Amino acid sequence: MELLNLHRIVDVTAAEGPGLRCAVWTQGCSVRCPGCFNPQTWTTRGGTLMPWPDLVARVLAVEGIEGVTLLGGEPFDQAAPLGRFASAVRSEGLSVMTFTGHVLEDLPPSELLASTDLLVDGPFLADRPEPSRPWAGSANQRFHFLTDRYDESIFTTPNRLELTISPEGAIELNGFATTEVLEALLEGEHR
Ligand code: SF4
Repeated sequence: MELLNLHRIVDVTAAEGPGLRCAVWTQGCSVRCPGCFNPQTWTTRGGTLMPWPDLVARVLAVEGIEGVTLLGGEPFDQAAPLGRFASAVRSEGLSVMTFTGHVLEDLPPSELLASTDLLVDGPFLADRPEPSRPWAGSANQRFHFLTDRYDESIFTTPNRLELTISPEGAIELNGFATTEVLEALLEGEHR
């Protein structure tokens, strides 16, 4: 069985797509956009290898989520096992939102594409920051409503930056923030 190569899993987040979702970052990205916020996901080394049915079981055990979001890395670098995962969770009623650094027109048919309700496509362009739409990193990226699960009403969701502090004191940030926003947050911390 082909294994998934994963960077990180957050069981429940409100910052990575419509509603509450499980977010899965893949390890390995062949797109390599200059200025990428996740360059640590470029290499295929150092990820967590997992059979896709194990990820299905983990996600289905999470209560209260409406779907999963697949982020990079580049999810379509692992289109075969990730497609099986996406198809399995969708058949249990969860929605699937997938980010890709490719444009839709360049993606070959795959089970992952066929099992995606909402696709956000296109490379991150550092010189074209996204002014308003939630979840998009740059203004060139497009939202494709590939099924009737979602529509443009999702754009009324505010962009969120979610900060989680574990009992051990580890801090995790989810969501998208510009460098300016992050700097403002850090300044606030020092006041
Ligand atoms: S596709 Fe995503 S992870 Fe890959 S380089 Fe571009 S922004 Fe970074």
